[in-house]
Amino acid sequence: MSDLRLDATQLDRYSRHVIMDEIGPEGQKRLLEGSVLVVGAGGLGSPAIQYLAAAGVGRLGIVDDDAVERSNLQRQIVHADGDVGRPKVESAADYVAALNPDVDVETHEIRLTAENVADLVDGYDVVLDASDNFATRYLLNDHCVLSGTPLSHGAIYRFEGQVTTFTNDRNSDDATVADDGDAPCYRCIFPEAPEPGTVPDCATTGVLGVLPGTVGCLQATEVVKYLLENGDLLEGRLLMYDAMEMSFETVDVRPNPACPVCGDDPEIESVEDVAYEGTCEISAD
Ligand SMILES: [Zn+2]
Repeated sequence: MSDLRLDATQLDRYSRHVIMDEIGPEGQKRLLEGSVLVVGAGGLGSPAIQYLAAAGVGRLGIVDDDAVERSNLQRQIVHADGDVGRPKVESAADYVAALNPDVDVETHEIRLTAENVADLVDGYDVVLDASDNFATRYLLNDHCVLSGTPLSHGAIYRFEGQVTTFTNDRNSDDATVADDGDAPCYRCIFPEAPEPGTVPDCATTGVLGVLPGTVGCLQATEVVKYLLENGDLLEGRLLMYDAMEMSFETVDVRPNPACPVCGDDPEIESVEDVAYEGTCEISAD
């Protein structure tokens, strides 16, 4: 642990963390020295950014190439009415700056691609996938598996959400990892993206506004625990939330030996091998 010391203002700001044995000043220092890349400043990214900033995660990267639309405001709570038309990364950065001056924000107003993913992810402790499309989700999974970067996954559909965590530590002896000491990646659970147009997006089907709030907060909880190195992560477990039934169900998920990116004989050795836009197909060559 570094010799970073909490000053009086920080001891006050984070006092409800610091007084707990599970966090304490050492845990708070881990958060202040931690870094998270949040991909997407929308429904999932908004609450994640808010709580990670409030918790004092010292460096937050935010990736998004969209501008705020009025129809976003029903759920994307990091943006306000006056932000309509502004880049989402700017609006989110302003929110964080007003909330907690301890947090350095790095904004990336860009769409994540196979060409830029390594540069964007490099240097962050953990990636929080708050994206809203399959191309980004598979691209992040594949890059994070190949680079050994921890990844928090969250997804929403109408009244339902799911969350899991991939530490992507293939040699982990961690007791929280599934029994054989290994854990799946996103492709192990969902090998292929659906055909374009077969799964409607929020704009087509609607989404309960508070739903991404719950799911994004669960992702932020996992990331905070990861940085604290405390608690049981959702590794090898998929949490499914149904807002209408108000039910949470956790199912064990296993590594797939035939997985094209983390299996025994992987086809994907580089994100350049995959055509992410469109069907996320693995190219023939
Ligand atoms: Zn896999």
